[in-house]
Amino acid sequence: MAHQQQRLSFLVVIDFECTCDAESDATYAHEIIEFPAVLLDLESKQVVSQFRSFVRPTEQPMLSRFCTELTGIQQHQVAVAPTLLNVLQMFERWLVSHELLVEIDDARDAAEEGAAHNMLPLEIRDRLWAVATDGPWDMETFLFKQLTRLFDGDMERAMVYMSRLHLSTWLDIRSTFARFYELDRRKNIAAMLKHLGMSFVGHRHSGIDDALNLARVLVRLLEASCTLEINDCVFNVDRRQHYRSRVPIPPSIDGKRLPADWPHLYSMAACCIVPDSSSKRRQASKASKKKMTSATTSTSGSSRRAPPDRE
Ligand code: AMP
Ligand code: MG
Ligand code: MG
Repeated sequence: MAHQQQRLSFLVVIDFECTCDAESDATYAHEIIEFPAVLLDLESKQVVSQFRSFVRPTEQPMLSRFCTELTGIQQHQVAVAPTLLNVLQMFERWLVSHELLVEIDDARDAAEEGAAHNMLPLEIRDRLWAVATDGPWDMETFLFKQLTRLFDGDMERAMVYMSRLHLSTWLDIRSTFARFYELDRRKNIAAMLKHLGMSFVGHRHSGIDDALNLARVLVRLLEASCTLEINDCVFNVDRRQHYRSRVPIPPSIDGKRLPADWPHLYSMAACCIVPDSSSKRRQASKASKKKMTSATTSTSGSSRRAPPDRE
C-alpha cells in the first residue's frame, strides 16, 4: 500500500449536538448541548483518547422534544452539565494533557510571543494537529455564532478565543472526501460510510458516535493515501462564494456586518489552509499515465489500460 506522508500528526474530530426544533432554519440560534472530541493518531491510525461533556444551554434551557428524539440527549443530562465556556476550559485542559497545547512557564516569554494568555499551540514546536469536522457548521454555525452571542456580538473576540484553541481552522471531512473520490455531491456520515462499504456504528446524531464514525472514515482516507489537511476556516470567503451565487461584500453573519478588519481576521485563519492536491482519480490517473509512458517505451506502442481504482 502506498504510504502518504502526512504533515499533521493528529486530528481532533469534533461533532457538536445542539438545541433545535423541527422548524430550525439558518437563523436559529443553536446552542451546543454535547461537546465530544476524538483524538486520532494519524501514524498509528488509532483513536488514542476521547473527550466528552454535555453542555447546559442558557438561552433556551429546555430541549425540544424534537431535539431529544433526534440526538437522544435528555433534559436531565444537560440540566446538570457545565456551560459552554466551562466545557471549553475542560477541553483546553484535555488538549494540554495530550501535549497539543503547551503552557508557557515563563510569563515574560508569553508576553514576548504577543500572547494574551499563557498557552500556545504546539504547532510552534513539532507535533502538528488540526480539528476535523463534518462540514463547516460545527465551528462556524454553532461555536463561532454562540461565542459571538456570549461575547455580546464581539466577533473578533470570538475569533481570537477560537484561534487560541485551534478551533478557527479545520479539516472539512465531507469536502475532503468528495474531492478525493471526485464525487458530484458531498455525502453525510452514513453515506460516506456506505460509499466505503461500512455502516454507522451507534446512534446517529449522538455527538460522540458521530465523531467516532467520522474517525473511521478518516482512517479509510488515510489508508487510501489521501492527504489530510486544513481546508476551511471561520470567515472563509471562498467557501461562501462556493455555496452561494451572490456573496454580500463585506459578508455578514446573521445580518450583522463583519468587523471592519474582517479581511485581517480571515487571512489570520486562512493562512493555515493548505491547497488541495489529493484526488483519488487524479492520483490514479497520474500513476497510470506514468505507467503507460513506461509501457509505451518498453512495448513499442502497445496500449495498456490503467489499473482500476482501488475501493
Ligand atoms: P448532526 O451532527 O448531524 O447530528 O447535527 C448537529 C446538530 O444540527 C443537531 O444536534 C441539531 O441541532 C442540528 N440538526 C441536525 N439535523 C437536523 C434536522 N434534521 N432538523 C433540525 N436540526 C437538525
Ligand atoms: Mg455533525
Ligand atoms: Mg452529530
